[in-house]
Amino acid sequence: MVSQVLMSSSLEYYANPSSTHMMGLEIEQLINEARISISNLLGVNSSELIFTSGATESNNLAIFGVIRALQNNNRRLHVITTKIEHPSVIRCIEFLNDQGVDVTYLPVDCNGMVNIESLKEAIKENTALVSIMQVNNETGAIQPIEDIGNLLKNYPHIYFHVDGVQGFGKIAISLEYVDLYTISAHKIGGPKGMGLLMKKGHVNISPIMFGGNQEFGIRPGTTNITGVLSMQEAIKIAVNQQEERLNSLTMIYKRVYSVLHNIDGLHINSPSPGLGSPHILNFSYTATSSAIFLSILAKKGIIASSQSACSSKGSKESRVLMAICNDQAIASSSIRLSFHESITDEDIDRLIEALEQTVILIKTKKVFSFLADKSLEEQNIYS
Ligand code: PLP
Repeated sequence: MVSQVLMSSSLEYYANPSSTHMMGLEIEQLINEARISISNLLGVNSSELIFTSGATESNNLAIFGVIRALQNNNRRLHVITTKIEHPSVIRCIEFLNDQGVDVTYLPVDCNGMVNIESLKEAIKENTALVSIMQVNNETGAIQPIEDIGNLLKNYPHIYFHVDGVQGFGKIAISLEYVDLYTISAHKIGGPKGMGLLMKKGHVNISPIMFGGNQEFGIRPGTTNITGVLSMQEAIKIAVNQQEERLNSLTMIYKRVYSVLHNIDGLHINSPSPGLGSPHILNFSYTATSSAIFLSILAKKGIIASSQSACSSKGSKESRVLMAICNDQAIASSSIRLSFHESITDEDIDRLIEALEQTVILIKTKKVFSFLADKSLEEQNIYS
């Protein structure tokens, strides 16, 4: 279990793995073994894994690393991405754009999917990097990574980066045609503040932080032994149980989807069952804002969100949904349910009841009296 590895390793392994004393060497050996075991699970070489502090860092390292390594010869470079990437990708690319790198933001269709033809048309002679996520974190849309990889095989000068944070462990992926792949440990039951970047041997990147020689001189800093060992355990479980997890999540998704589908005035922003990742179900009920819908759900004991945690503060409407449907009412009333495979039939019953009651409260204009009443409802929920 991840929590056991987390506890025992933080108690036992306190030496610095870069130290040359016996305890340091022992820990370095554990890190080497973890690297080999993770690389076997991912089907890559152990020298192709860089441990990082999470997906934000991995995405920054992939994007800035590739561009900085190529910028040495002063050639103007071009990057292709989509309009619906996570902020940890979009913000890097916006920054590069400000610094003189050309950028194409590919549009997506009403299912949130990129069109291969539009990618093909966007490719230029100076395109250096294509960065496209595996699964969208707001809607669960799955991108055709294999088709994109196959297309990019014809352009050996272009590196293909995939943010796999929401897909890894849920949706199968072959890393055969992917040059750089980002994983975050906490999205697969591992610890927060831990991740990795898979970087194929032929890809040159420059470091974006400077210091020690850890992680092949690309990512300095004392290696997080507790994080590495716990992430190794989480990856092992995620890979071994992927199919089982997908089946359980699909059943949950189908049940909730069919209820939402029948609610008048409710717009489902996620793909139909079987077309998207079944752990994210996003909908909009335009009669009220996301904030009010979420407050009612919270009072009923259901914790959901509206956008990604990295964009939710300070932004009223979802940038991702605007790119998908270009409808402000939908983009500012979105609710994002995320499911864990362990949730029970009773949990789903409770969720469905809460969703139906929330819609009734909104329709009957009883929201404010409900939210103001702190007596009975809250006691029932939290007792
Ligand atoms: N990419 C995607 C698609 C995400 O959903 C997230 C986090 O939710 C990240 C990147 C950032 O991950 P981390 O929290 O490990 O930095």
